[in-house]
Amino acid sequence: MRTLVDRLVAQQQLTDEELRQLLLCQDVGVNRYLRQQAQAVRQRVYGRDVYIRGLIEFTNYCRNNCYYCGIRAGNSFAQRYRLSNADILTCCQQGYQLGFRTFVLQGGEDPYFTDARMLEIISAIKSAYPDCALTLSIGERSFASYKAFFDAGADRYLLRHETACPAHYARLHPPQLQLSARKQCLYDLKRIGFQVGCGFMVGSPYQTIDTLIMDLRFIKEFQPHMVGLGPFIPHQNTPFRDFPAGSISLSLKLLCIIRLLLPHVLLPATTALGTLDKQGREEGILSGANVIMPNLSPAQVRGKYLLYDNKAFTGDEAAEGLQHIQQQLNNIGYHVVIDRGDCIGA
Ligand code: SF4
Repeated sequence: MRTLVDRLVAQQQLTDEELRQLLLCQDVGVNRYLRQQAQAVRQRVYGRDVYIRGLIEFTNYCRNNCYYCGIRAGNSFAQRYRLSNADILTCCQQGYQLGFRTFVLQGGEDPYFTDARMLEIISAIKSAYPDCALTLSIGERSFASYKAFFDAGADRYLLRHETACPAHYARLHPPQLQLSARKQCLYDLKRIGFQVGCGFMVGSPYQTIDTLIMDLRFIKEFQPHMVGLGPFIPHQNTPFRDFPAGSISLSLKLLCIIRLLLPHVLLPATTALGTLDKQGREEGILSGANVIMPNLSPAQVRGKYLLYDNKAFTGDEAAEGLQHIQQQLNNIGYHVVIDRGDCIGA
């Protein structure tokens, strides 16, 4: 099995059957070796730097009803909010002072934020902070909308593909949402010139080893600049409330495999990892991750952007928590850098 890991390192590729063997392998020694190799590759490409992204969750309204999501339109218990342009710029200002050089505007698919409103926000941020990268994560839009956002200065776009298996996608989403449309968005974004992130939940309902292999295959073929993945965590006001949470160890193993499949990729240690395990964020970094996305949203709304239950750091993972993050990373031999943190080789 170590030979498989060595081949993955050397060729950045494995067959589906080899991926299956590696994913199913429970041998502690092999899994430790996989992790060592992922760390070695990560350090060869990115050293011990960790990039930070200031996450601004600017609206929790969403027109969609994904079965796993706590801010789905059908959750009448969600306390909805939108940040004003002034609120968003205040978040950026505070983040900039703390050393953030990437801001991530994340929200549900909120019809209030028309293209015109988004363009106003993008232009305001990019003219105030021209040395910063701006990432958008606002779901599916038309090619023309994406192009307008890019032309206004947005640099990156995160759109998790959720699962690369159409039948699995149909079990996670209502019929109006189609995997083909989501993939088209990802290809459009890349063609326009964005640095693009895809990703998926680990342990989502009905996920199998076969769908995971399809995810890895899609990621390898699509060659994203970023991959966001973390364990599925149920939310009490969704149809998936009774499903168990995803596995931390499988999430970490997938981080290792993705680091080896795509050595230059930007890989966040996600909040979901830190929610299920106090050491989850550090474990993520030690499994090949190189990005952390602390929350810059105003304290009074942080507890309302709940995609899943018991989300970690709703109080602490704000700008004030940056020092804590730096300490945690220093303890494992890594450090935060003040940098836009572009994908090396992008
Ligand atoms: S996952 Fe995204 S698109 Fe789906 S309901 Fe949640 S915020 Fe909306």
